Amino acid sequence: MSDPALDAKLEVKQASKEVKESENVAEKYSAMTVSKNSDMSMGELSSAFSAVPTHKPVKKQIQFVEDKQEFSRFPTKTGRRSLSRSISQSSTDSYSSAASYTDSSDDETSPRDKTQVNSKGSTDFCVKNIKQAEFGRREIEIAEQDMSALISLRKRAQSEKPLAGAKIVGCTHITAQTAVLIETLVALGAQCRWTACNIYSTQNEVAAALSETGVAVFAWKGESEDDFWWCIDRCVNTEGWQPNMILDDGGDLTHWMYKKYPNVFKKIRGIVEESVTGVHRLYQLSKAGKLCVPAMNVNDSVTKQKFDNLYCCRESILDGLKRTTDVMFGGKQVVVCGYGEVGKGCCAALKALGSIVYVTEIDPICGLQACMDGFRVVKLNEIIRQVDVIITCTGNKNVVTRDQLDRMKNGSIVCNMGHSNTEIDVASLRTPELTWERVRSQVDHVIWPDGKRVILLAEGRLLNLSCSTVPTFVLSITATTQALALIELYNAPEGRYKQDVYLLPKKMDEYVASLHLATFDAHLTELSDEQAKYLGLNKNGPFKPNYYRY
Ligand code: NAD
Repeated sequence: MSDPALDAKLEVKQASKEVKESENVAEKYSAMTVSKNSDMSMGELSSAFSAVPTHKPVKKQIQFVEDKQEFSRFPTKTGRRSLSRSISQSSTDSYSSAASYTDSSDDETSPRDKTQVNSKGSTDFCVKNIKQAEFGRREIEIAEQDMSALISLRKRAQSEKPLAGAKIVGCTHITAQTAVLIETLVALGAQCRWTACNIYSTQNEVAAALSETGVAVFAWKGESEDDFWWCIDRCVNTEGWQPNMILDDGGDLTHWMYKKYPNVFKKIRGIVEESVTGVHRLYQLSKAGKLCVPAMNVNDSVTKQKFDNLYCCRESILDGLKRTTDVMFGGKQVVVCGYGEVGKGCCAALKALGSIVYVTEIDPICGLQACMDGFRVVKLNEIIRQVDVIITCTGNKNVVTRDQLDRMKNGSIVCNMGHSNTEIDVASLRTPELTWERVRSQVDHVIWPDGKRVILLAEGRLLNLSCSTVPTFVLSITATTQALALIELYNAPEGRYKQDVYLLPKKMDEYVASLHLATFDAHLTELSDEQAKYLGLNKNGPFKPNYYRY
């Protein structure tokens, strides 16, 4: 009788060989066969990684002279807000995490002016208050309960330590869920230094808990623009420690290193980037021939886009609206601008509660999808006078203009679920004839001279991240994808990834999904030999071609 574990290892070795011999290595790699997806042990996974030599980046001189396009608006370390809008659309479009129970105590002293020591005597961190560590630990433990797949990855891999020697510098939202990711990376052997990708989203107590365990965190809620870049710099620029991996959300850290520390940057083994904005910048660099490091685009992984964008928004849109306005959804006329993943999630949630939902779209395919899902596709101007709520989800700018806001009815609500605060022309509402009344945190009444009020939420910034919590389980999917992307890039054999932007191999996307299926006690059907042959598939996946859209 054959030993399944041995068979799997042999398959892995065979796959590694194919990878080495292949021209199209990424393609070949995605065909790597490792036992059954859900049974794939981290031992098998990481033995596949460690069976091959580690990647040494090809040296390439970084040039800055023609970088004006990307960097002319890039601030210096002490740069002011006006200098940095382009870089920090993601980072300084201020939103606070309502998930944060961050203490808003009266201590106005900047963390930069305090000397704090953790219980091990380290001062290599800068957070609001290290004394909040115990509270933060409880938050992390609560998050862990709904991130069992990530924890299972941690358990499977911690004896193998696939990230041993990895020095990861990270720039993400610092929340309890991110802490679970960071602690997973540490358990897998990495050393981490971390900073926040947004000046408002840090959970101070979580930052304290991480600092207490020895992760060098430089972040607090309510950083100034100058603090933001100072924190990034402190993460990167430290005596006797040089990062070799980047985990970024928004691209600010990547670009800071690219610009300020080119010699360190070119020795990086890989970048993992989560956001649309950051990925866009990476593609621009790659197109210009200036990306000297392999990068993984996690944003476009199926396990990110189809879950974070769709299900996260489906779950959190109503929460954000309820907490801020106490609105009843039944019978309300709502228009959702944009029927992409985020728009689809919002529409589904609103429809389920009995709202009358309209959709605006520019793309005939998404427009047709909206029709087939039972929504009226209209131009915003056609229904602007009658709608009760407008929700923008386009990633575009000026989707709702002042002229349209002028025509909305009394008491209507306007909010945004897209990445940046460009979708509603909020600036146009800051004119002398309109009065702004802050009625609740994140809720403004904008009052017209005739007494009409429009309720503007979170000043046009992401509603769910500003005003509600987001589901931990979905973040676990994204975090697991990020962890695997780091493991893959760090352990990839030389030549598998060149100086370009890659998608995570589909096999790994499927692996992330299979880890999360366990939560639901879901049982997948296995292909018979005959069926696999008929479909031309390997019984263990990948089950779909790369162009499949799900
Ligand atoms: P997407 O590209 O799938 O969908 C956007 C849709 O908007 C597209 O179908 C596009 O045709 C349409 N569109 C563009 N301009 C338009 C206009 N002027 N009027 C009407 N429709 C227009 O993107 P997505 O994944 O749905 O993400 C949308 C935005 O939400 C992005 O900015 C993304 O970064 C952000 N996002 C937010 C969250 C959250 O938690 N709030 C989560 C993920 C993504």
